[in-house]
Amino acid sequence: MGNEPQEPRVPFSKRSLGQNFLTDRNYIEKIVSAVDPRAGDHILEIGPGRGALTEGLVASGAKVTAIELDDHLADALEERFLHDSNFEMLRGDILETDLQQISRAENGKLKLAANLPYNISTPILRKLFKQRHLLSEVTVMLQKEVAERLAAAPGDSKRGFLTVLIARGFGIRRLFEVPPNAFRPVPRVDSAVVRLVPILSDPDFPDGKFEMLVSAAFRQKRKTLKNNLDVSDGWVGEQVSLFGGAAELLGGSGIEALARAEALETAEWTRLLTNLIDRHK
Ligand code: SAM
Repeated sequence: MGNEPQEPRVPFSKRSLGQNFLTDRNYIEKIVSAVDPRAGDHILEIGPGRGALTEGLVASGAKVTAIELDDHLADALEERFLHDSNFEMLRGDILETDLQQISRAENGKLKLAANLPYNISTPILRKLFKQRHLLSEVTVMLQKEVAERLAAAPGDSKRGFLTVLIARGFGIRRLFEVPPNAFRPVPRVDSAVVRLVPILSDPDFPDGKFEMLVSAAFRQKRKTLKNNLDVSDGWVGEQVSLFGGAAELLGGSGIEALARAEALETAEWTRLLTNLIDRHK
């Protein structure tokens, strides 16, 4: 009896919630060091799970707000950090949570830390783009392919909608990779930690219109930008028609007629968007 492994507090993991828990001490410490928590910081941790990262974050003296969708995990964390007055547990879905309310509580910007649930990393990153003015820095672990896509340079075929969005909103740095055996259960994919630092030079930038443009431009990745824009609908389609077609819009924006969306640099996207909006006036 005495040699039998102790049953863990939470006996199974839910794949539907992307639950692959970090168990390797070295990687846990490496990620916490990358977050660099300090007293005076307000850290938001998405999906604390069994608290692998939370422990080091709380121990730093930083204020830590953790949001977890799984009530069983939230119960266990609340009990574990009961006596840490700098820890706050929120129960709920990060996608339905307004970061403004969390940052307002401490009256400062949030440092975001997470081993993200990979199944919803794209909507989470879109949310962070929209609310980037509330963030000072983001350190997140993602599926390695997603990290590669985010960091892909103009001209790289890995570049997509999310790359362009994140490049417009953040400076990005890939920090290090994490192998599958650092997690339990062991995932089928490699992971990588990235740091995003918001670029906040133009607070009035029209995020929504930018997302519509980039989404239309990447609609069919193999097609040229011109072909995608010519068949786009909604606001983008209307604006392109006002221009007399995508060829005119691209020409007027100094972009090559046969370019693919993946080839464009951030400055070219901004020019394209400015022309599209100006046509409306
Ligand atoms: N941070 C822990 C670790 O590194 O071991 C757990 C990371 S695990 C990859 C992702 C965590 O996010 C799980 O605890 C899961 O329950 C939680 N989660 C999944 N979807 C969520 C959502 N929409 N909002 C908040 N938490 C979520």
